[in-house]
Amino acid sequence: METLTERVASRIPQAQERARIKVEQLTASGRATAAVASGQRLHAAAARASSVRQRVMWLQRFVSCAVEPVQVVSACTAGCAHCCHLAVPITDVEAALLANASGRQATRVGTDLSWRVADLIAMARDRPEAMQRLMAEHDVRSRAVVGEPCPFLDRAGGMCTVYDARPTACRTHLNLDDDALLCRLDIGTDVPVPLFDGRQLKAIVLSAQPAAVLADIRAFFPERTP
Ligand code: SF4
Repeated sequence: METLTERVASRIPQAQERARIKVEQLTASGRATAAVASGQRLHAAAARASSVRQRVMWLQRFVSCAVEPVQVVSACTAGCAHCCHLAVPITDVEAALLANASGRQATRVGTDLSWRVADLIAMARDRPEAMQRLMAEHDVRSRAVVGEPCPFLDRAGGMCTVYDARPTACRTHLNLDDDALLCRLDIGTDVPVPLFDGRQLKAIVLSAQPAAVLADIRAFFPERTP
């Protein structure tokens, strides 16, 4: 009988091909473009927002609207919480929205554990090599939390307790395979899950909050869901 490792290894090329076809079909059918267009009223509401917090909230909704057709063809379903055991980068503005939704207090995180969004944007623009080094450092830090549940995960039911207020990272983390086989947590093993490329959408939300600080969700909310 095939082991999980063997099943995962033999799935990888098939999953990558599936993801490629799905992205191609979404683009060719115009569904991806239509979803972004239908989110424009949310984008416009963000532009009119009177505070950064409000702006980010509207942009998060815009992101959800833009990824709707991707979600339909993804492997992600309610109750699957594999990605809730990975690093979840959020800003202090998103932490404030989560605090508001959950009634929990967000901890202020220090700069040794976090990055200022404006510095990241400037680094990506002016010093790409430094950005690459930082991303490598980020990967190392991210591995340290793998397996640790998000503080907002209801571990019994595998459900997000702050779904409507979930951060941008969670809204764009979509597996384009047909099932969650490649997401199954095998700590210490890097599996190339064919994820939706949400970088542009994340950049839209981040550039609306240049003064924000970015860190893992667990740094802002050290206490877990009981
Ligand atoms: S905020 Fe919700 S969706 Fe995001 S990692 Fe936490 S439990 Fe999962």
